[in-house]
Amino acid sequence: MTLRENCALCGAPGIPAGEKCGHLRTRAYRLARCGSCGFAWVVDADDDYAALYDDAYYHGRGADPLVDYVGELSDPRTLRRYEWDGLLALARGAGARDGGTWLDFGGGAGGFARFLAGHGFDAHAYDTGAGAQLGRAHGVPVLDDEELRALDGTWDVVSAIEVAEHVADPEPFFARIAALLRPGGVFVITTGNAERAPRELPRWGYVMPEIHISFYTPANLRTLYGRAGLEPVDMAGARGWNGVVRYKTLKTLGVHRAGGAPALLPWGLLAPQIDRVRGVSAMPFARKPL
Ligand SMILES: [Zn+2]
Repeated sequence: MTLRENCALCGAPGIPAGEKCGHLRTRAYRLARCGSCGFAWVVDADDDYAALYDDAYYHGRGADPLVDYVGELSDPRTLRRYEWDGLLALARGAGARDGGTWLDFGGGAGGFARFLAGHGFDAHAYDTGAGAQLGRAHGVPVLDDEELRALDGTWDVVSAIEVAEHVADPEPFFARIAALLRPGGVFVITTGNAERAPRELPRWGYVMPEIHISFYTPANLRTLYGRAGLEPVDMAGARGWNGVVRYKTLKTLGVHRAGGAPALLPWGLLAPQIDRVRGVSAMPFARKPL
């Protein structure tokens, strides 16, 4: 366990924001919020990563029962198709060109990378541990640390989909992303919007304190981009978010596959309304200056 009493972004002492039990580990985790910059975090987060992100985690039997990286690799009707379609549209809107190189950083077993390869991108995933092994066993190109280092500064697009909230130390994480991008390259991110969290932080479903340990506001991302030498790209309200929001909403309701009755709902109207509450699209992407 590593104690983080002060804000990782601005150094201000954390204001206690309640406690929350884990899903598998039943101890109470301490939450804190920064009164200065709004960043929120788990104070006493676990750091035995190999145990947290084991084979069971990637099968949805770990600390986050809503992930199923293995199912989405083999099921062409995986619910994640909505999210992937949306992210692809958003990346194009942010300037990504079809056929370019795309790294899905923290991409689990590589389902998104496989989807992108099917849409003409030269796509790879990067992850470590059980997720990387699962991806390679399914024929997805999952790069290791050494292979990744050799490709610094070359990627047209880097994505980090629901990754930044797992990171204990945000500044080196965003610096790493910046180093991977080529000048002019686009960074695509999704992570929970802490600005829209309930006032009582433990009531926020996104707080899964074994694994989701860092919670950002849009302004926090802009700060971190600036420190990493990246320019924020405002994506608020862009159309592609409809697919992302649709995926997130149905996933939370326990739906695993696309189609069926939920497909009949008027998502073109629903998704923007949900987005207005959750602030999903308020989290900016970034670009590395030319
Ligand atoms: Zn702060």
